[in-house]
Amino acid sequence: MENFNFYVPTDVRFGKDRLGELPEVLNEFGKRVLLVYGGGSIKRIGLYDKLMTILKDNGNEVFELSGIDPNPRIESVREGVALCREHQVDVVLAVGGGSVIDCSKVICGATFYEKDAWDLVLSRNYAGPALPLVTILTLSATGTEMNRNAVISNLKTRQKLGIYGKNLLPKASFLDPQNTYTVSQYQTLAGSADILSHLMEQYFDLTPGTEVQDSIAEALMKTVIQCLPVALKEPDNYDARANLMWASTLALNGLPGTGRKGAWSCHPMEHELSAFYDITHGIGLAILTPRWLDHVLNEKTLPKIERFARNVWGITEKDAMTAAKMGIQALYDFFVLNGVPMTLPAVGINSEGEFEAMARQAVDHSTIATAAFSPLNVEDVVAIYQACMKDSHFI
Ligand code: NAP
Ligand code: FE
Repeated sequence: MENFNFYVPTDVRFGKDRLGELPEVLNEFGKRVLLVYGGGSIKRIGLYDKLMTILKDNGNEVFELSGIDPNPRIESVREGVALCREHQVDVVLAVGGGSVIDCSKVICGATFYEKDAWDLVLSRNYAGPALPLVTILTLSATGTEMNRNAVISNLKTRQKLGIYGKNLLPKASFLDPQNTYTVSQYQTLAGSADILSHLMEQYFDLTPGTEVQDSIAEALMKTVIQCLPVALKEPDNYDARANLMWASTLALNGLPGTGRKGAWSCHPMEHELSAFYDITHGIGLAILTPRWLDHVLNEKTLPKIERFARNVWGITEKDAMTAAKMGIQALYDFFVLNGVPMTLPAVGINSEGEFEAMARQAVDHSTIATAAFSPLNVEDVVAIYQACMKDSHFI
């Protein structure tokens, strides 16, 4: 195990009907609030009205930034920065999924950044000051509610980039699983695929001696595998939604990832799919991951993929290589069975014309060519994209 720091002081308020505690949380920072939300789901589920009543009764001055897109755009960040500066906002309140929260994080930092907000994203690591951020999560997926990362898209330059900011961690996050009852089947699938991907990105790593982290990751993966079908069948099953929500938070708050050397592989490849074609993040990850595992299965990676097959999917086959392939197949079949469109044409990407350009960007914008579970060059990434063009069988 490598040395690590683990300091994640987000005040997590998990459970049913805790918004009465919001004033006490917000008042620590001030009365002027920028409320950030997406395309209107918070109005449809009645959360917006509830919040406005609470904020009004608490004497807050509320400014609003709405219409944050899935795959949040740099233009929305700029709008938010202008509002924060103009109205001398004290605290940003993000209400929504990962897109709303990520956009809000970068607004919080860019408000104090002397250059353009996109320059801050391009820096990839922001150590400067930030406005305090409080979140109310409505979709279980990204883990952004308890981490220092954000992902922002620039459709003009065809870039979607992750940024890490030591002061971008939410001060408090309200996690009420009831707020996710209305998440569509498609977004529930995409969110769960994202949680699984975060776990696999960290788990598939060659650092020796990470038993605690590996076991946590396996337990969280099994939780998602168990709870996703229940949530799809019964969208208002509290325990299924609660376990998916807590799994999403724990999957990317550092717990399964600390003490490792490795770098992520599927997220850099997926970010190019979203940057070029604006597809749903979690669905792109579901499509890529089994093909990636199949591509990198070799003598070095075999023990970890075999362990995944046995511990996560219960494969008992004796031969290690066959067991590993059965594990990859089980992951693929799980996504198919739950209704994920599992090829690129099924999400509207019918041509291979951009694969080379996307692969080059994936390699240039990340460390997949050097530090990944199995380093990938441009040709490898193109081959993985190509494998996603049709249905796959791995055994
Ligand atoms: P999202 O893009 O925030 O939301 C997807 C859709 O779900 C939106 O149309 C949204 O509608 C809707 N929605 C949200 N809550 C809902 C609810 N309770 N009921 C009904 N509809 C609801 O999805 P996400 O998967 O959470 O976030 C994806 C983004 O996060 C991507 O850009 C991805 O790259 C990024 N990401 C970030 C991290 C990180 O650590 N920061 C990690 C992984 C991925 P409205 O717009 O109307 O609300
Ligand atoms: Fe993700």
